Amino acid sequence: MEQYALPIANLIEQFSKLPGIGKKTAQRLAFYILEMEDLEAEKLSMAIVNAKERIKLCSICCNLTDDDPCHICSDDNRDKSTICVVEGAKDIIAMERSREYRGEYHVLHGVISPMDNIGPKDIKIRELLNRLSDDVVKEVIIATNPTVEGEATALYLSKLIKPIGVKVTRIAHGIPVGGDLEYFDEVTLAKAMDNRREM
Ligand SMILES: [Zn+2]
Repeated sequence: MEQYALPIANLIEQFSKLPGIGKKTAQRLAFYILEMEDLEAEKLSMAIVNAKERIKLCSICCNLTDDDPCHICSDDNRDKSTICVVEGAKDIIAMERSREYRGEYHVLHGVISPMDNIGPKDIKIRELLNRLSDDVVKEVIIATNPTVEGEATALYLSKLIKPIGVKVTRIAHGIPVGGDLEYFDEVTLAKAMDNRREM
């Protein structure tokens, strides 16, 4: 390790824990922050603290929100009979951009991945099943990413949900294998939703 003063070394270490940030970038960010106006640096650190303090999981759909229930779950104009299951809260933003879908969502916060030691109990599956007990929901659309883990999770969910008597569909993938939902354009997503197939 280079001979940085301890606070600088610490800052670099914290940045290098972020996804996609290598050692070089971590250094660049740390030095950038040291050059910032005090007030700007304070705004940045407060933004992190505030977001961590105020953002919670919606008690219904597990979306990230500062209101509980979130703005989607509390919107009476949305179709309560359909739930679209996504991996992450960012996927809701992508789906909403397509303006095609008017149902509810459920955020799993991950996918089943034995390689990474993530089992069914580590993601929000129980919370999803709890939502299906009162006969309101008629269809669950599984919109996990078209990766090996995303497909395996979709299959696992369909096996759990179908016996309850709820229709399970999977969004069509004009979406490239290994792709990430949040990066698809609105048209691709809208089409994927239209061409969903029953599982
Ligand atoms: Zn919600």
